[in-house]
Amino acid sequence: MFDNLSDKLDKALHVLKGHGQITEVNVAETLKEVRRALVDADVNFKTAKNFTNEVKEKALGQNVLTALKPGELMVKLVKDELTELMGGDAEGINLSGNPSVILMSGLQGSGKTTFSGKLANYLKTKKTKNPLLVACDVYRPAAIDQLHVVGDQIGVEVFSDREEKNPVAISQKAIAYAKENGHNVVIIDTAGRLAVDEAMMNEISDIHKAIEPQETLFVVDSMTGQDAVNTAKAFNDTLNFDGVILTKLDGDTRGGAAISIKSVVNKPIKFIGTGEKMEAIDVFYPSRMADRILGMGDVVSLVERAQEQYDEEEARKLQKKIAKNQFGFDDFLNQIQQVKKMGNMKDLIGMIPGAGKAMKDIDIDDDAFKHIEAIIHSMTPEERSTPSLINASRKRRIGKGSGTSVTQVNQLLKQFDQMSKMMKMMQGGGGKKMMQMMRG
Ligand code: GDP
Repeated sequence: MFDNLSDKLDKALHVLKGHGQITEVNVAETLKEVRRALVDADVNFKTAKNFTNEVKEKALGQNVLTALKPGELMVKLVKDELTELMGGDAEGINLSGNPSVILMSGLQGSGKTTFSGKLANYLKTKKTKNPLLVACDVYRPAAIDQLHVVGDQIGVEVFSDREEKNPVAISQKAIAYAKENGHNVVIIDTAGRLAVDEAMMNEISDIHKAIEPQETLFVVDSMTGQDAVNTAKAFNDTLNFDGVILTKLDGDTRGGAAISIKSVVNKPIKFIGTGEKMEAIDVFYPSRMADRILGMGDVVSLVERAQEQYDEEEARKLQKKIAKNQFGFDDFLNQIQQVKKMGNMKDLIGMIPGAGKAMKDIDIDDDAFKHIEAIIHSMTPEERSTPSLINASRKRRIGKGSGTSVTQVNQLLKQFDQMSKMMKMMQGGGGKKMMQMMRG
């Protein structure tokens, strides 16, 4: 995410690192580079200029009273300003109605349907809500099917009416249905067009007026750069929406949309989409995003994602197994699945401070576990629970079955063995001893 911008900002800020103090000259030089980096990332020119002016004023004003070195001070000022620009504190969504109605708007392909599913899944698991998804695209039957697929995937009911050709009527029927059936949140996925046009705006505006949603969200593809900002403006002029959803931040977006949208429409970015999976949704925190843009990592989000996937019951079972020496390949496979649920590997690594830059050129993808999974899938249940059974001829069979080599099978067995030993040690006195050592 934002690799290019992060790199350029890093280089720009590096200029100041060698200097003993802040002067007009080195600040101007640094900020010129910062501005160029922002414009290259598709931040609109005026926004970039205001940005650097603000930072400059603050930098020169703080000259004497700071304990920070000039390079550090500049990083801090740029970070604060980025945070401010992207919206200050995180803002949630309004769930006050019963049902609370959330209307999705945006162009076709922006990720509305995917995000509707992600949001339903998020509200169901995090806020223990009972959402209803509503398919309001009366032009593309495939769009209705797509929402049903999403709904099935996350176990959320989908309301659709293929006979009804009026989206206002569909929304109203859906809300009535939700009331009768105990759904306390209604998420309405609407039809988009490839570009802003009057018919689409009128349609969404009619739905908006008729159902008076608690929350109107505008979904936009962050890869579309400055266009994203223009589209946001057009939708906001018509709908006066409550918040922005920025999707596809996992791609190689240049980041300009994230940075400029808030300042142009003056509406907060509320969530971001970071992948095609239903779990790839994050609450948008401007300050964490600024950290990520500056390559400072985002440990807080990383820990939160890990916690979301952490199942206490499972963890206890696992501990028991380890203690009894029963940890097998099935458990291992399970663990891999947990890690994969946390999202795209490259993204996860990007959240670790410093790691994003260091590992940028290494090709890590979601297939990182592919071989391991294939090898485990080629083992018999007995082999999985008692890996010591795996002799040379079994290794050859497993290699063949999984399309890997005996060397790869050996590697995995060795890793597994080391891991089991380590877990055993942590379980026994080792873990406690380690804690004591850390406490001093
Ligand atoms: P809609 O036309 O606005 O409903 O858009 P869709 O939800 O159908 O999304 C269009 C395409 O973008 C689909 O292929 C989605 O899988 C993909 N997509 C949506 N959100 C994300 C995201 O956050 N990251 C990535 N990589 N792809 C996404």
